[in-house]
Amino acid sequence: MSQTFSIAVIGGDGIGPEVIAEARRALNAALAHEDTTLQYTDYELGTSHWLKTGETLHEETLESLRAHDAILFGAVGADPQDKRIPSGVIERDLLLKLRFELDHYINLRPTRTYPGVPTPLAAAEDFDFVVVREGTEGPYVGNGGTLRRGSEHEIATEVSVNTAHGVRRVVADAFRRAASRRGRLTLVHKHNVLTHAGNLWRRAVEEHAAQYPQVSWDYMHVDAATIHMVADPQRFDVIVTDNLFGDILTDLAGAVSGGIGQAPSASINGEGTAPSMFEPVHGSAPDIAGQGIADPTAAVLCAGLMLDHLGLDQAAARIERAVHTQLSQWAEQDTGQGLSTTERGEAYVSRIKALT
Ligand code: ATP
Ligand code: MG
Repeated sequence: MSQTFSIAVIGGDGIGPEVIAEARRALNAALAHEDTTLQYTDYELGTSHWLKTGETLHEETLESLRAHDAILFGAVGADPQDKRIPSGVIERDLLLKLRFELDHYINLRPTRTYPGVPTPLAAAEDFDFVVVREGTEGPYVGNGGTLRRGSEHEIATEVSVNTAHGVRRVVADAFRRAASRRGRLTLVHKHNVLTHAGNLWRRAVEEHAAQYPQVSWDYMHVDAATIHMVADPQRFDVIVTDNLFGDILTDLAGAVSGGIGQAPSASINGEGTAPSMFEPVHGSAPDIAGQGIADPTAAVLCAGLMLDHLGLDQAAARIERAVHTQLSQWAEQDTGQGLSTTERGEAYVSRIKALT
């Protein structure tokens, strides 16, 4: 049965469009012999668009994005040297707005090593875990304020909002993922100090644990989790945590695995009421933009996550497999350095083709 998916593509700024071009080539190769078509619509958004038009995300653009099955996103962000762009505008009015409006309550960051590919960790053992970070609540909702601004007695508050609905739905997703992986879930929080929110998270996990007897779970304070992520990351399978802890832990996760050029992420609307978005963890990297040397690996892995999300799991597996084999080969033969963005992209495409 032939099927068509409509994909919104936001290349964005800096290396965004460069790496997304390779992701698209990988997608086309992975689907070459399947009766599935991806129809792409390009959207110009980000800093360069803002400089041209003064617009971050128009309501009409948002509505039009909603109509797609998924969004493939490169990176947006200003060159810090560029004084024309006020700090935080793009992050707040574009990225956060998309996440909240499209209800991306699951922020997924798979983290793994590839045999032979070096990591900054001393222990050479391979690991493979996924962080499920809550995406729409916590201290990121903008609930707070400033009293007596500028005075010696200024008070600033930033309230972390945790709702039963919000916590339960992300915990449910994490249990589902754990059940389909190695059956281990770790709740990361700080409930000895953040007792109110911590208690809600803990109860949510306990409630769901009853429905998943095949999943064993444990609890870890966030400070301890940072130690374990460096000392023995093999112990993790699925980590579930709130928006702020997840933000920090996932950067650490990216750093202890293959590095920023290889870390994909997915912002998922688990109920399917709006399209999910697939984007590399890295930013627009203005320092190397336009030179054709950005590593497209994270973007290509994002393409795989997107296919998986659309239910095209065989095509998704081809991408994952191709990246895996190619990275290991580059590492073994020590031939991975100095390759251009397109040379890397082409290597992945030939691997994918060999698998189809
Ligand atoms: P943002 O605010 O947009 O997240 P950032 O300041 O966090 O940006 P990145 O844009 O992710 O940073 O870049 C951080 C560093 O990593 C830079 O030196 C950049 O060149 C490098 N880098 C990021 N992505 C890649 C990539 N795909 N390939 C190679 N180097 C990269
Ligand atoms: Mg960044």
